[in-house]
Amino acid sequence: MRMGLAANQLHHSHEEGALFRWLRACEGGIRELQLGLHAVGRTYDAIQRVGMLSGYAPLRRYPYGREGGLMKLVAEVVGLDDDARTLDGAIYLIDPVDPSSIFPEAVALKRQCVIHGKPFVSTVASARDWVEMERIHAGFAPDPGADNLHTLEEQTLALISHDALKPQMLAYAGEHFDLLSRFARRVATGTTGQRLNELAWSRGWPQDKPWVHRYQSGPMGGDAQIADLVLERRCQRAIFFEDPHVARQHEADIQLLERAVTTRTDTTACITSPRVAARWAEAASVRSGK
Ligand code: PGA
Repeated sequence: MRMGLAANQLHHSHEEGALFRWLRACEGGIRELQLGLHAVGRTYDAIQRVGMLSGYAPLRRYPYGREGGLMKLVAEVVGLDDDARTLDGAIYLIDPVDPSSIFPEAVALKRQCVIHGKPFVSTVASARDWVEMERIHAGFAPDPGADNLHTLEEQTLALISHDALKPQMLAYAGEHFDLLSRFARRVATGTTGQRLNELAWSRGWPQDKPWVHRYQSGPMGGDAQIADLVLERRCQRAIFFEDPHVARQHEADIQLLERAVTTRTDTTACITSPRVAARWAEAASVRSGK
């Protein structure tokens, strides 16, 4: 497995930066998985500077951002003829107020991950979660350091899906209903939430209780309402099935939610496509033995 790796400057400019918090938590797991990391120049240099992943051959250096390093990762997410240059996803630790986080190549990196059903990992919590999920799939014993990501009974889950993805959201919730029902609380944008409640009631959930708390519909501001929960550290996971193929009237609100998630980089994990969400659900079920 191979992932692109980049972090905005704030996240690698000092030893407590997000990049190093992730590596401290996951270096063992990265080595167990023999995870290939294609790291853009400054991110690679920072890892070398602090002496992490030392002697780790699968860590490879890509050009600096200004030399096209991030652009090359986008092409590798799409896939190139040379198999060694095809990525399984990207870890891009975003500082939402760093202007380079909204450069076209940064937006394209996320978009191509979503289009190809590959993980786009933008927060420390998501990156820790992703490594643990892959460890579980590879048959390793649970890492106690990741236990706090799996206390679902204490967490709030946000579920959002754009119109073309609503059938997939319903199929997903149906398939993993017991797992998703373990969360202390579920919230959703209006229309997604309505459909999910109807599904839950048809599955025997008490008729007088909603399965998810519904906020406004997306275009009416539901994403912004959920973003506020994230900012208040009251939402630990978002599963957002985005439609990257249409122009979205409320694009600003969608970006706002994504920026809120990266603002709470240690507390909120975000999953952006059905394939990655299914892989997470399978690992979470195995991990909890339920
Ligand atoms: P909806 O909103 O669930 O109300 O359709 C989702 C969105 O469009 O962001």
